[in-house]
Amino acid sequence: MEEVKRIEELRTLLEKLSYEYYVLDHPSVSDQEYDRYMQELIALEQKHPECYDANSPTQRVGGAVLEGFEKVEHRRMMLSLGNVFNYEELVAFDERVRALEPDVRYVVELKIDGLAMSLIYRDGRFVQAVTRGDGTIGEDVTSNIKTIPSIPMRIDEPGEVEVRGEVYMPKASFRRLNSEREANGEELFANPRNAAAGSVRQLDSTVCAKRGLDAFWYYFVNAQEHGIHSHEEALEELSRLHLRVNPLRRCCNNVDEIWAFIEEISARRHELPYEIDGMVIKVDDLNAQTRLGTTVKVPRWATAYKFPAEEVTTRLLDIVLTV
Ligand code: NAD
Repeated sequence: MEEVKRIEELRTLLEKLSYEYYVLDHPSVSDQEYDRYMQELIALEQKHPECYDANSPTQRVGGAVLEGFEKVEHRRMMLSLGNVFNYEELVAFDERVRALEPDVRYVVELKIDGLAMSLIYRDGRFVQAVTRGDGTIGEDVTSNIKTIPSIPMRIDEPGEVEVRGEVYMPKASFRRLNSEREANGEELFANPRNAAAGSVRQLDSTVCAKRGLDAFWYYFVNAQEHGIHSHEEALEELSRLHLRVNPLRRCCNNVDEIWAFIEEISARRHELPYEIDGMVIKVDDLNAQTRLGTTVKVPRWATAYKFPAEEVTTRLLDIVLTV
């Protein structure tokens, strides 16, 4: 049957694209194209439950564990995020949440296009930085992450603090790096995300130190152990601890407020000094997050809205219109 054959084809293709993206840091297609294949596979697998395979790309958190760095098991799994691509899918997400949490409030953040990182502090001292890897096991990249100047080596909080966020390459660093590479006849990085990932996995941390990386922190994993009740409160606490938190975020009570913020940011997206590929919508109340729980792959209390591929079409249109 055609569709069953297509499922196999898409699984093989997505495996190859993931390898290029996560292991080689060298994608051969755009993220939008990758997401389209993934959506097609999800739809076909839903139609053909008999084709279920635990190893299908749809069942993975993403990422890969590399050689060269010490492997570390995450004490709490580092999940990915579910996706919505339009207003209707956002409404459906909100309805699923509201079925359990009718009075939900959300925090809406920018989705920074970098790589997810976990930091551990013990009794106020930075002890470890670990990549997401496959979600269960990541790589210890502590010595590279220490070279990012905005990350505090000491914080004013006793006990253990685990924070997660995004390490990224600002647009200015990316431009500088690629022009240096061009001048040296080296291969260029495809985008800031790949350049950031490539920098973090340098075995020599002096190379990483020169790459001009930065980070935003968006998740206080064990916030409740520190007496915190909401995500917004957790972000404020991270700021107090001198961790860099993106001030561009908004608390929203319904889908229309979320959508208005999405539109506002979409319009300003290209003025930002870093790349974003969407927005992240999170349930604010931490107890509500626990009640909503997670699937094997993604939390049910958050989702990512992915921007459509407008950039390329706009430029093409510009050319067409100006010719
Ligand atoms: P994702 O990019 O869809 O979203 C999850 C990630 O968003 C989190 O892990 C975190 O790192 C990040 N994030 C940024 N800002 C955040 C915030 N404020 N709050 C929470 N998380 C935030 O998922 P993924 O698993 O990291 O990557 C999958 C995506 O990678 C695909 O959807 C595709 O776009 C891209 N990809 C592309 C190719 C390709 O060949 N072009 C291949 C594989 C994957």
